[in-house]
Amino acid sequence: PAVGELEALQHADVAALLPVPGIESDKYRRGVVGVAAGSARYPGAAVLAVAGALRGGAGAVRYVGPAGDAVIARFPETLVSDQGPKHAGRVQAWVVGPGAGDDAGAVTEVLAGEVPVLLDADGLRLADPEVVRGRTAPTLMTPHAGEAAALLGVAREEVEAGRLAAVRELAARYRATVLLKGSTTLVADAGGGAVRVNATGTSWLATAGSGDVLSGLVGSLLAAGLPALDAGSAGAYLHGLAGRYAADGAPLGAHDVAAAIPAAWRDVC
Ligand code: AMP
Ligand code: MG
Repeated sequence: PAVGELEALQHADVAALLPVPGIESDKYRRGVVGVAAGSARYPGAAVLAVAGALRGGAGAVRYVGPAGDAVIARFPETLVSDQGPKHAGRVQAWVVGPGAGDDAGAVTEVLAGEVPVLLDADGLRLADPEVVRGRTAPTLMTPHAGEAAALLGVAREEVEAGRLAAVRELAARYRATVLLKGSTTLVADAGGGAVRVNATGTSWLATAGSGDVLSGLVGSLLAAGLPALDAGSAGAYLHGLAGRYAADGAPLGAHDVAAAIPAAWRDVC
């Protein structure tokens, strides 16, 4: 397909999408993002998803799961609970899956609910496709090429060779917005219509935990009320830019990317 079919975002497009708290705003109106991620084995994924979410503009971040102690030690502003999502107070969007392991409980609970859900990492694998298709609230899936290949039942090389077709196929199959990560990121609207391209990243972003930061950031934008296509594309844009700033031509850790999100946000606006 011609590149002209794709809508590539620029600074000004993203600036117009980002939430700005008004004078009347309070933390609930700004949005509460719930993060159900991490496990005893991978507590760091929870910390990184929360780190992304805290920089994404939501009014509060609620964490549910087994890594609450690690999360609170790093980010004391997080509301933590060791109970499941259905026991959590007000949440306007859920991020579920990074480092979660094999426990499908949280995935099933958030998908049964009526708020937007971002599925990443283990959450992609644990989600029932029929349940995702049947949801009335938006679902946003954020696979890298390997995860996309597993969902489609094809080899990773096939996804790499036809990224546009793959992201459209997933969006159509799941009736979900799909963000396909990689050196450029493609975001396909639910149903497989519009596709946006993001190229703000840097290869230094190919590092452990980088995607966990993205999931929190995008989830926060969902909680602030952005439609899934806008949240995904604005989040990918900021994440890529933050990666560039954090790297500045040298290696970075995923937590550096989260810390650079405010600088990226500032420059876009
Ligand atoms: P994950 O594989 O889930 O940790 O996600 C990796 C993140 O880094 C995604 O946001 C990718 O788009 C980004 N990324 C990975 N490799 C590259 C690359 N070569 N150039 C730019 N961004 C990349
Ligand atoms: Mg990942």
